[in-house]
Amino acid sequence: MNYERILVCGAHPDDELTMAATMAKLADQGCEVYVCISTDGCEGYPKPEWKDKIVEMRRQEQEECDKVLGIKQRYHIGAPDMGLENNKQYFQRFIEVIREVRPQALFTHGPHEYHRDHRGTHELALEAVWQAGQPVSADLGQPWVTPHVFYYKGVADRRAMFRVDVSEYAHKRLEARATQVSQHTLFGMTREEFLRQAEELKRAGGKHYDTFWPTERMVFNDLPPKDL
Ligand SMILES: [Zn+2]
Repeated sequence: MNYERILVCGAHPDDELTMAATMAKLADQGCEVYVCISTDGCEGYPKPEWKDKIVEMRRQEQEECDKVLGIKQRYHIGAPDMGLENNKQYFQRFIEVIREVRPQALFTHGPHEYHRDHRGTHELALEAVWQAGQPVSADLGQPWVTPHVFYYKGVADRRAMFRVDVSEYAHKRLEARATQVSQHTLFGMTREEFLRQAEELKRAGGKHYDTFWPTERMVFNDLPPKDL
């Protein structure tokens, strides 16, 4: 992946970590890695007493995570968790972010996700990546056509078509997960355990890959037609 700028869209703060190793690798190679998160993650509290502080906790966790992975900047669409609607406000915010970042590749959720915000992010990102390239809504920035659009998860009906060798960066995903302390109940692991596993993975080496799907509308002009 030889990109200068990529934009990774996720519904909640930490969804993007599925491709954490790829982000770390690209950032290390000098690519500017931008992340755009649709919601504030306000429903991600595993304990009732965290309800009022979960958004702030997750904001700090995102900052720490960005340092671990080398993420250049993080954008927010501003929807409440479980409340991402396909409305004009959020759609235009997506367009604005895409036109500001001017990515050569955008990564988002696939169509077969369970969570409504994941499916919402899938829909909004795909629509916006097309609309951002049209000469409309000029106050949202200069039109930008994003050449490549991929899914990094959420595709259930076909195998991933691309893979990125992240062998030297696989531990980065665990280090990034370690920063998301408020979400550790989901994984049944503590920060220390994530970091210990990261060290073990680094020591063990081996081959590791992140996998990606092209979106349904991505055209590969350089692929020859295949006989069926
Ligand atoms: Zn999510």
